[in-house]
Amino acid sequence: MSDKPITVLLVEDNPLYSRLIKRLLDQSKRPAFAVVIVDRLSAALQRLAGGGIDIVLLDLMLPDSEALDTFYRVRAHALDIPIVIESALDDVSMAAKAVEGGAQDYLLKDRINGVSLVRSIRYAIERTRARAAEWSSATFHLAQQQFLKAAHIVDLDDNVRQRLLFPEHAQIAALPFKRDGGNQIETVFAYRVQHVLGMGPTKGGLRYHQDVGLGEVAALAMWMTWKCALMNLPYGGAKGGVRVDPYALSSDELQRLTRRYTSEFINIIGPEKDILAPDMGTNEQTMAWIMDTYSQHVGHSVPSVVTGKPIVLGGSLGRKEATGRGVVYLVEESCRHLGLDIGQCTAVVQGFGNVGMHAALFLAECGAKVVAVSDVVTGVYNPDGLPVAELRDYVAEHGSLKACPFGEAIENRAMLELPCDILAPCAMQHQITADNARRIDCKILAEGANGPTTLEADEILKDRRIFVLPDILANAGGVTVSYFEWVQGTQNYMWPLEQINDRLRDILTDAFGRTLRRAETAKTDMRTAAMIEALQRVGAANLLRGIFP
Ligand code: NAD
Repeated sequence: MSDKPITVLLVEDNPLYSRLIKRLLDQSKRPAFAVVIVDRLSAALQRLAGGGIDIVLLDLMLPDSEALDTFYRVRAHALDIPIVIESALDDVSMAAKAVEGGAQDYLLKDRINGVSLVRSIRYAIERTRARAAEWSSATFHLAQQQFLKAAHIVDLDDNVRQRLLFPEHAQIAALPFKRDGGNQIETVFAYRVQHVLGMGPTKGGLRYHQDVGLGEVAALAMWMTWKCALMNLPYGGAKGGVRVDPYALSSDELQRLTRRYTSEFINIIGPEKDILAPDMGTNEQTMAWIMDTYSQHVGHSVPSVVTGKPIVLGGSLGRKEATGRGVVYLVEESCRHLGLDIGQCTAVVQGFGNVGMHAALFLAECGAKVVAVSDVVTGVYNPDGLPVAELRDYVAEHGSLKACPFGEAIENRAMLELPCDILAPCAMQHQITADNARRIDCKILAEGANGPTTLEADEILKDRRIFVLPDILANAGGVTVSYFEWVQGTQNYMWPLEQINDRLRDILTDAFGRTLRRAETAKTDMRTAAMIEALQRVGAANLLRGIFP
């Protein structure tokens, strides 16, 4: 479920119940609901035809229809929309029949309360999505199309192409975890996907987000494979996810969820199998819980099952800021290539979390004027430049950029179209699309986020000669320092920060140079060039290892 409210069509002719249900839904903040009330079947069908309904709460006994007929007629008009039946006590068997016929759930009107109502709605939407859309995701489609384009250019062996188009391992779990107080247990969908097992252990982050699905995690795992190969790191790609809104959970709840996630996937993770790291919605603390749970399970401390962990537990200096730092090292290289002086550049950064905030800080450190930043709540714009360190402190204190006093509020979409030299999308996928690519007004697009640009947008940016630092290059600083952390763990020896940053710069600069040369020789864009570099390594390894037996 995304951040926008869930639109509920409430079909109920008794005003007593419709008022009660609306009041209960209005009280919920995460998720928030928009409730549309109708009291006739005819009005319900008309409203469904207008679109935009996420779920139907349905009373079966209406003035113009009754019993199961009501359900079947609604279902015929809303095949993909979950339906939850509201039932009176004496109608339970009819409600149960509707569930057999495809309704997601039924609620007893006389026992309705806020928790059961919200949960029933959430689960109904989850179940419908889980059935319909696990693999079919726009993000996975994007990752596959990018791969196929590069595979075609390098004439990749067809057997290898087929092998790489889908992940080798994908595991789904329905995870239970206890909420605080009372005895409420939530069940959420969780994923771990390992794309390529032949390059060494697999490596990839863990994302907590209310929209995560198998397809998205598979795409992210695939991009990890290319990223590691481009950086010459001895890993295949992996990714994990839990479909949950982490900001709606307490720290204790997050801990129970994380420990359960670890135990659910314990057989497929490990320092020589699959190593986790933070991604959206997870952080150092999450990694500490995973490490502890894994270590408890095997009976001794195993820090290297995760990277991005706290320094006192064996984390690496410089890991937390590595992705943002890497983005800026590569922006510096791009400026050199394009003949720009970074000290004279303006920058816009979308996303003010781990990647975006550090990217903005390092851009400012290099002398660039950061004129706008944003988080999920709002953007902040100041044409004279924003004080990034003060913004960081503001967010640490207030939780978001909302009402921050350093500039005027700007909507995320509008912010992406501000004129600037450097635009760094560091939040979500699918931000630059065919819709807005013609209005993007920057010289360098530095993709701190994974998958922020669609294929159609790529073509438009290419025509407009915008220099794209593709995600598998631009945000590879994170996995590179994760690799350093893993190596330090096996050496039991800590490297100084200066050495880490120097090595990071060397690896990124080398990958940038190879990608640029490849783009020139293959007469292609930077994304495809980076993919070709990566594919050649993975393809060669695949052929050399062959297929067992
Ligand atoms: P994070 O959770 O620390 O921060 C995400 C930021 O994006 C937050 O400020 C959030 O408010 C904002 N955001 C979320 N949805 C948004 C939206 N729809 N519009 C605008 N802003 C929105 O996550 P992160 O670790 O910084 O990851 C951000 C991106 O970078 C993801 O695509 C992730 O896969 C990628 N990435 C992260 C790392 C890493 O080391 N953390 C490494 C490589 C790539």
